[in-house]
Amino acid sequence: MNPIRSTYLQYGKQTIEEDDINAVIECLRENAYLTTGPRVTQFENAIADRSQTLHAVAVSNGTTALHCATYALDLKQGDEVIVTAISFVASANCILYQGATPVFCDVQEDTLNIDPNKIEALITNNTKAIICVDFCGQLCDYDKIRPIADKYGLKIIEDAAHAFGVVRNDGDLTTFSFHPVKNITTGEGGAIATDCLEYAKRMKQYRTHGINVDYKTRKLHYYDMVDIGNNYRITDIQCALGLSQIGKLDRLLKRRQEIAAMYDLELEPFAEDVKPLCVRNPCAYHIYVVKFAKKYNRDKVFTMFKDNNIGVNVHYKPIHLHTYYRENFNTSEGLCPVAEEVYRQIITLPIFPTMTNEDVMDVVRCIKLIINTY
Ligand SMILES: *Cc1c(COP(=O)(O)O)cnc(C)c1O
Repeated sequence: MNPIRSTYLQYGKQTIEEDDINAVIECLRENAYLTTGPRVTQFENAIADRSQTLHAVAVSNGTTALHCATYALDLKQGDEVIVTAISFVASANCILYQGATPVFCDVQEDTLNIDPNKIEALITNNTKAIICVDFCGQLCDYDKIRPIADKYGLKIIEDAAHAFGVVRNDGDLTTFSFHPVKNITTGEGGAIATDCLEYAKRMKQYRTHGINVDYKTRKLHYYDMVDIGNNYRITDIQCALGLSQIGKLDRLLKRRQEIAAMYDLELEPFAEDVKPLCVRNPCAYHIYVVKFAKKYNRDKVFTMFKDNNIGVNVHYKPIHLHTYYRENFNTSEGLCPVAEEVYRQIITLPIFPTMTNEDVMDVVRCIKLIINTY
C-alpha cells in the first residue's frame, strides 16, 4: 500500500525567513562584536519585555539556562528540589549539576503538567524549590502552586522551554530554550527571565567563569574570579537571529494555534480512540500531544505513522525511569503512577508554523487509517 505521504513530515521545524538571514549577515558585516556585544543586551531586553520581568540573561542553551537558575538559588548537596515527572531530562539534570536531590512529582492526567495537589506531600525541611514545566507550552496552575511555594518558603523555577511568548512572570526564575524546534530559535540558545537583580547578577557571573562582572569596580586589567563558573555565553550572531525571530513571535504562535484548532476539530469525532490533552490555561502549542485509548499499542501506532511518512515523536519518557536516575536515586516504576501510565499512550503529532493545512489533513487521514485498520 502507498504511504499517505510521499515526503517525510517532520514533527517540528524552525521558521527561517529572509529577514532572519539578513539580520545574521548584518551582524557579520559589521564585523564589530561576535560575542558579549550589544545584540546580546538587546536580545535580553526583548526577552524581559516579552516575559514581563525586570531582567533577563541570555545563555548558550536551555539546559545551561536551567543550570544558571539552580545556581542562582544556591542549591547544594542536601537540598531537595521537587520536579515534574514528565519532561525532558534537562529539567531534572539541572538539580544534579548543583549536587542537590530531585524529588519527582506526578502529573495531571489530562494536561501532563505538575499536579499541584501532589506537591505538598513531598515537601520536607530540606526542600528548597519546585521546578514546573509548562508542558506543550500550557502554563501550569500557578494560582495553586504559588501559595504552596510561599507557605513553605520555596522558590519556583519555571522551565518554559515550550512556553516562550505566553509566560507572564509566574516563576521566580523562568527559563527558555531557543533550540530549532522551540517557539523561536537562535540555533542553540537559552535565557532566564527574573525580577530579582541579585539572581540576574549571579547568573551573569556564572555565565562567564564566575568572574565578577561588575565592570565599574574593575581597575586597569584586574579581574577577579569569585566563584567557580562556566562559559555559558551566547554569541551576537545568535542574538541577531533571536531578535529577528522575536519580532515575528506573535505570528508564529498564531499559526501554531490555528493548527492546534484544526487538530482539535478534526479529531473530535474520534474521541473514543484518540484524545488531545486538555488545554485550560494559555498555551503556546510548542507540541501537540494526543493520547490513544488503552486498546492501542503506542509503539505499533508510532510505527504506522512513520510508515506513512509522518514524523511523530513521544514527549516524554518519565525522567525517573531513565537508567541514571534508577541507579543513582533508586527511582523505579510506581513512583509516579499517572505519568507512567500516560506515557504508554502518548504520541506527539507534527506542529510547526510552516506546516500547511494539507500537511495537517495528511496527519488526520493517517489517524483515521490507524483507527480503521487497528
Ligand atoms: C528543549 C528543552 C530543554 C533544553 O533546552 P536545550 O536548549 O535543548 O538545552 C529543557 N527543558 C525542556 C522542557 C525542553 O523542552
